[in-house]
Amino acid sequence: MRSEIRQFKCLEDNFGLLIHDPRTGATAAIDVPEAAPVLDELAKTGWNLTHIFVTHRHKDHIGGIPEVKARFPQVHVIVPKLEADQIGAHDQAVSDEDQLALGSLKVKVLATPGHTIGHVVYWFPEDKILFAGDMLFAMGCGRVFETPAAIMWDSLQKLAALPTDTQIYCGHEYTLANGRFAVAMEPDNPQLQERMQKVTELRQSGAFTLPTTLALELATNPFLRADQASIRQSVGLPHAPVADVFAELRARKNKF
Ligand code: ZN
Ligand code: FE
Repeated sequence: MRSEIRQFKCLEDNFGLLIHDPRTGATAAIDVPEAAPVLDELAKTGWNLTHIFVTHRHKDHIGGIPEVKARFPQVHVIVPKLEADQIGAHDQAVSDEDQLALGSLKVKVLATPGHTIGHVVYWFPEDKILFAGDMLFAMGCGRVFETPAAIMWDSLQKLAALPTDTQIYCGHEYTLANGRFAVAMEPDNPQLQERMQKVTELRQSGAFTLPTTLALELATNPFLRADQASIRQSVGLPHAPVADVFAELRARKNKF
């Protein structure tokens, strides 16, 4: 592991995230839901904020940027190109497959439209770390606001193709509610039952349930499992195209 990561609570159920390259001192915030907890964490670690990587334009991911930028005026703000105009002040606009650096660490941008049209995720290939924003959650995925469900399914498949030992950090602590829906869809999945027990204990002790791994999501996340017979059966679509199964799952979760 070449990087160091801090994960902490922002707003109601957002995560603040910092990633630090000890070789060069470069430090990035992944989104800034609100300024105070991010500035506190920077003070605690002594890290100097050099970059902000924005996943998408929703207020609960960018609301704290102006205040943080005022405190660290040299910070380099990177935003998805398709949402750059709506986000406002920024230093760089990125799109799919763009290569970035955080100090000595390589970073690759992956476009993942669905939750919003311009949503991107940030992949650190050396440490196999993914910052997924509101695209993928533990046992869940973001609401599909701005594309057909099939586009979101394609975006999820992009993430599913990463190495299975990828560590995934997400934008929200939604795990328990997601897990209840997952169990309703796949009551006989033993790995899911085991996971629910674990995350219930974690939440009872006030701990976070993230990061997760891709392997764990592939085994327990219904939205990555739309092609499984168990899920198809639960939504009553045994032979439909997998994107339709995904769309039905997403619709059911919205009403759950
Ligand atoms: Zn969002
Ligand atoms: Fe969000």
